Amino acid sequence: MFTLKRINPVSIRSCIQFASRTCASSIAHEKKLTPEITNKSNLTKYLTGYQRFHNHYFKENPEIYNKLQNSQHPSSVIIGCSDSRVDPAIITDAKPGDLFVVRNVANLVGPYVNDGGHHGTATAIEYAVKVLKVKNIIVLGHSKCGGIQGLMDGNASQFDFVGDWMNIAQNAKTITLEEHPDAPREVQLRACEHNSILESLKNLLTYPWIVERLEDKSLSISGWYFDFDQGELLVYDGELEQFVGVHELNQRVDPAIITDCDPGDIFVVRNVANLVAPYKPGNFTEKGHHGTASALEYAVKVLKVESIVILGHSKCGGIDALMRDTAHNFEFLGPWVDIGQKAKEKTLKYYSGKPLEIQIRACEKASILQSLENLLSYPWIVDRLRQGIISINGWYFDFETGRLSAYDPDTCQFELLDTEKAEERLRQLSTRKSEVENFQIEPEDEVGSKLKLLSSNSRPSTLGV
Ligand SMILES: [Zn+2]
Repeated sequence: MFTLKRINPVSIRSCIQFASRTCASSIAHEKKLTPEITNKSNLTKYLTGYQRFHNHYFKENPEIYNKLQNSQHPSSVIIGCSDSRVDPAIITDAKPGDLFVVRNVANLVGPYVNDGGHHGTATAIEYAVKVLKVKNIIVLGHSKCGGIQGLMDGNASQFDFVGDWMNIAQNAKTITLEEHPDAPREVQLRACEHNSILESLKNLLTYPWIVERLEDKSLSISGWYFDFDQGELLVYDGELEQFVGVHELNQRVDPAIITDCDPGDIFVVRNVANLVAPYKPGNFTEKGHHGTASALEYAVKVLKVESIVILGHSKCGGIDALMRDTAHNFEFLGPWVDIGQKAKEKTLKYYSGKPLEIQIRACEKASILQSLENLLSYPWIVDRLRQGIISINGWYFDFETGRLSAYDPDTCQFELLDTEKAEERLRQLSTRKSEVENFQIEPEDEVGSKLKLLSSNSRPSTLGV
């Protein structure tokens, strides 16, 4: 098995070359990585969806995006499952700006652990509570949840991240088995889906700044359950101590809205500043709760997705905090946005002396490339890239103009996707393994200096076998 000891895009080509040299006989049957193979990414659906979004929703609703250009004031943060069938914005018929959303596997909130680790879900909740001052925290569970199935069947532990992540709900499993020892599997699963929502609500009560806001009654927490067999939303009633039916919650960058997707089309992870941490950075705790990595792992290994898209956006509060050095006033946000530290350094190097707004915009794009590079530290992603069965892509949504651009490894720039050439370009856009070695951004028109990302320090990687 190949592992990248150093996070470096060059590693991938080196891996293949090394593999070809050293064990040619054992991999002779494997396909070589060619553009024809890697180009068969399945993104046309999303990008034509984006074109529909841009031509209709965006252009026909200027009042929505004009209002949101400089700030967002969602009244609720919702913690949903990454499951493609349960989009919080679709279920609640929310508009951009209405909802601040975190999505992870099985919509879990871990207990308060302030250890300097990369806690994506806690970071989003902290930002929503402290900065956006949301009035509601909603944990939205759902029927037929793959994460809960893995927990109940005991096969989540075979994964690198999913097992430890699902341990957050271990107590919910224990309670479920005590309450329904002999019930059919479907009944147990449904009960565990309910109990895990309650477990996450209890865990919310371990966050001191949530408790504070609950005590002064400026915040409420709710448990919701979406049953998509019936299309029914159930809400936990604290007095009845059960979920009851209702026949009656990001915010500005909803991937499903932007790509005009239907439920089932897209598996979404959401966190602050759309960051992906490296596979095993030094400050990872041994048994951490890695929400983003768990969702990636589930999408790659279980759902066998063909494409991973990092979707960044303009006016990103997380990148703003990173660039202004205000994130370190926070317990979780600081270590979390540190994932983008290298992107910040590159930005400051190549955009020194430029206005902060331009630096922030450059860093928004640089951090997308940073996350793409970090994806290359996950052995099971590298493995699939090597086989040509997955592609990784960087997209950037500018909601002042409503335009989506994608990182093009050929031109080393983010190229607009709403032009006539978009479809043709789309076929070439997937970041091919052989081409991720030179991530860089050419300067935007308004900027004279060059931003070369991750290329200036490129060096041959160390390969461990
Ligand atoms: Zn789920």
